[in-house]
Amino acid sequence: MGEPSRPYVVCPVCGHAFRVTYASTYVTVGREADLCPKIPGRPSDGARLIRSAVTMCPVCSFAAGEAFDELDLTFDERYGIEERLKEDGLLKVFRKGQPPWLGFHAAEVCGKERSLRSRELGDLCLRASWVCRKEKERPFESTFQLRALRHFMRSLQEDDLIGRELSVTTYLVGELNRRLGNHREALNWYVNAGRTTEGDPRVAWLDRLIDRQSKLAREQAA
Ligand SMILES: [Zn+2]
Repeated sequence: MGEPSRPYVVCPVCGHAFRVTYASTYVTVGREADLCPKIPGRPSDGARLIRSAVTMCPVCSFAAGEAFDELDLTFDERYGIEERLKEDGLLKVFRKGQPPWLGFHAAEVCGKERSLRSRELGDLCLRASWVCRKEKERPFESTFQLRALRHFMRSLQEDDLIGRELSVTTYLVGELNRRLGNHREALNWYVNAGRTTEGDPRVAWLDRLIDRQSKLAREQAA
């Protein structure tokens, strides 16, 4: 693992300047079936590395997966984000305690105002569920899996996904359904995902995963 860099960033919403820690690169040893990276060491260290994918302002809670200096928010967006952050129920309750998933939740809230695609919003929620699992926050893991699932379903209808992104998103709808206990639903979506790969050798890994997880869902559905 390289030395983390600690540059200053300026919040594009409230103007607060603060230092962030970017994990430079990290070693993974494969992925779990919902694509959560397996990271050597303690689970909480892995959770910290996954969390470094989003930056959250400690003052106003604005959060994003992109570098803050690359964001060019309009006046209306800034205003809308401030309002959403002020009104958000989970932020009201958890802002002080700073649970490990909070940055992803805040990034989702802000992402809606920034009109991020459903695929991106789903990705934020999926990552939040990974952090919850590594931190053993079971109820929140399911909460974020369900939110990721809904965003991915919407994404399949609205985002014009193609190629690998379409296949992976369809597969994730299956896998999240399986993890939430909807095994029959999961099986249907694995079949859909298999149709999108059409034997493309670049996603052979996904075909293998679909086979394996379908077997698992069939056993669980029995
Ligand atoms: Zn701020």
